[in-house]
Amino acid sequence: MANIVLSGIYKEFTSGRETHLAVDGLNLDVANGEFISLVGPSGCGKSTTLRMIAGLESPDRGRIFVDGRDVTAVPPQSRGLSMVFQNYAIFPHMTVRQNIGYGLKIAGMARADQEKRVREVARLVDIENLLDRYPRQLSGGQRQRVAVARAFARNPDIILLDEPLSNLDAKLRDQTRAELKQLHQRVGHTMIYVTHDQLEALTLSDRIAIMNKGVLQQFAAPSVVFQQPANLFVATFIGSPTMNIIPATLLHGEAHTAVHIEGWSASLPRGGSEWLGPTDVSAALVGIRPKDITVHDGHVEGRLPAVVTLMEPTGSDAILHLDADGRALVAQVADRFDFEPGDKVSLDLSLDHLHLFDVDSGLALY
Ligand code: ATP
Repeated sequence: MANIVLSGIYKEFTSGRETHLAVDGLNLDVANGEFISLVGPSGCGKSTTLRMIAGLESPDRGRIFVDGRDVTAVPPQSRGLSMVFQNYAIFPHMTVRQNIGYGLKIAGMARADQEKRVREVARLVDIENLLDRYPRQLSGGQRQRVAVARAFARNPDIILLDEPLSNLDAKLRDQTRAELKQLHQRVGHTMIYVTHDQLEALTLSDRIAIMNKGVLQQFAAPSVVFQQPANLFVATFIGSPTMNIIPATLLHGEAHTAVHIEGWSASLPRGGSEWLGPTDVSAALVGIRPKDITVHDGHVEGRLPAVVTLMEPTGSDAILHLDADGRALVAQVADRFDFEPGDKVSLDLSLDHLHLFDVDSGLALY
């Protein structure tokens, strides 16, 4: 196990005449034995970040430390880490046993010890019975396990995983995700996991680093990025269905701030610890998650009037698409499947779960 510190990392790529800042001033501190995920949309710089930690790319500026040792210029094989790639990258001409033992052999481990260790890690990921097979004789899920076993074989301090589940079908993905989590709980390596799948990140990680356009947006525990998103990007990236965002005006009184959106207003206590940003701006964006909207039949005074445009039952609940005076909103309702397009409803927005974001910077205000 080891801790990792990224300090002021920049990485630029040049193709033709264009330069592109893939990672822009990244600082990250990963604790010993922690499982963290790097998430963000395609091209946000997460794989480049992982590759720099691995030593497969060098940062243009900044330093990388492992357990206090500056490894920025240290070659990949001397950093005490292993990597699992999206396409598994296992050798097709070698058996599972040879694939898992490859790094041990290169490291000069005695044959009997190699066999013992290969069996140990194969047991860890439940592929002991496949050791004599070739990769072509394995399913995608089994190949993925071989790749994970190989990464664990040399007992590295750090394991880096780049979208390791993306080639698996949905069911196998869920199962393998849970197994990875159990594996981490058992062996306790420091793990850095790259994914664009927020559910994977939320379920697996101790902390999630959310990136956009090379810039770190927030680095916190799953519950924190979900409940207290630092900005509009995080708020709309994390959570499904996506958080509703509604333009609003703010009117500040002595003790309260009134939030007005067309057809609805509410009063928030002013100056409390909930306020994260300036308390004197006159416009903001209200953020409310679909699960935090309660839908009532008919139009009721004081609630936001809306019309149902579509209902999507998901099995356990229903996603309601709504039109509130020209604004498209989404609500998630449990135990009710009787709404129909055209139904007039009114909405309660839970004040306990209301977010406000600055119109210009997108930073969380409340
Ligand atoms: P994805 O989820 O699609 O894999 P990502 O978040 O992992 O995306 P990166 O692969 O880190 O993104 O790429 C970040 C940016 O840097 C992208 O705009 C990409 O096109 C660019 N980039 C990455 N590698 C190179 C390279 N070798 N040469 C030029 N540009 C590159």
